[in-house]
Amino acid sequence: MTDQVYLDYNASAPLCEDAKQAMIAAMDVAGNPSSVHASGRAARKIVDHARRTIADLLGGDSERIIFTSGGTEANNLALNGLEDVTVFTSAVEHPSVIEARPDAKRIPVDENGVIDLNALEAMLKDASDAGQKVLVSVMLANNETGVIQPVAKVGLLAREYGAKVHCDAVQALGRLPVDMGRLLVDMVSISAHKIGGPKGIGALAIAPGVMLVPQIRGGGQEKYRRGGTENVVGIAGFDAAAKRAEANMARMADIAQMRDRLETELASEAPELLIAAKGTDRLVNTSCLILPGMPGETQVMALDLAGVAISSGSACSSGKVRESHVLKEMGVDEPGSAIRVSLGLESTDDDIDTFVRVWSRMRGNAARKKARHAA
Ligand code: PLP
Repeated sequence: MTDQVYLDYNASAPLCEDAKQAMIAAMDVAGNPSSVHASGRAARKIVDHARRTIADLLGGDSERIIFTSGGTEANNLALNGLEDVTVFTSAVEHPSVIEARPDAKRIPVDENGVIDLNALEAMLKDASDAGQKVLVSVMLANNETGVIQPVAKVGLLAREYGAKVHCDAVQALGRLPVDMGRLLVDMVSISAHKIGGPKGIGALAIAPGVMLVPQIRGGGQEKYRRGGTENVVGIAGFDAAAKRAEANMARMADIAQMRDRLETELASEAPELLIAAKGTDRLVNTSCLILPGMPGETQVMALDLAGVAISSGSACSSGKVRESHVLKEMGVDEPGSAIRVSLGLESTDDDIDTFVRVWSRMRGNAARKKARHAA
């Protein structure tokens, strides 16, 4: 890593040493996992081992882990792989869910970004009365605010009305238990690079009885559910990162303390600061901070110059900055003034001290500039 203070784990976590070593070893395996010779079998062994690790982590079955190119593809497969379903998603999902099914019906959320279970029940009832098959897709934890959704309650309701449930657990993995049985879900999406694995590899885990139409065809890989030679090196890294994530779940308590200290110190420094969904169940590593009057992008650039990496609350893709649909749905007044600070296993108390110092200086400079302009 560079010597920047890195507080952008929800965007991507640094590659962990175990994953790097596993990948380097896998690079020496020439074979294609579909080949029957010894080299092919060695590659197959790596893939099968990872499948078991990931199945254990999710309380699933290794036969039903489908490797994909990441969380985005896993979400697209889940949302488009079931035939003839009406899809319900919340309005605060990741774009890879929202844009995978623009025809989906939206489950409303409250001012904290938590889905409205009564509204969902009414939607399920109407669909069931109309004889429709339904897939409900709700994320476990939000990437921008960290807000945790009541997924097990969604699962219970869905069962009552014969609907299936998909859960995007990309941000929750390694930070919260993600157990398919307890969550009462039929499909779960995960991604390696959020837990210290490589970018470009993820998985969709499915429950028994879920039949998917492949979205990438050609080749019978992944039991005809996703064509293409498996990314053996990425899968080896995913395996190691998943083991490390499980072994380090207890560290989340330290991360919670650091995040809470950060919020307390900033709030005492800046009474105008808003912390999105502060009183709600949130991921312990995530803080969405709104500093009225100061665009998130400006904050990101000022902090970057001072050696601190964070994200703005707005999504930035293809060079365009879009205001956060999540914060807008929550009715936040100035969604454009949000930044996201997200911690991870390598974060330290010194990182928090640096962030608080640099952020306070940035805010002070901005306030002085404003006062000069007003004078
Ligand atoms: N879902 C959520 C909640 C995410 O935060 C992300 C990535 O930021 C994704 C899905 C997409 O995952 P990937 O980057 O592996 O495609």
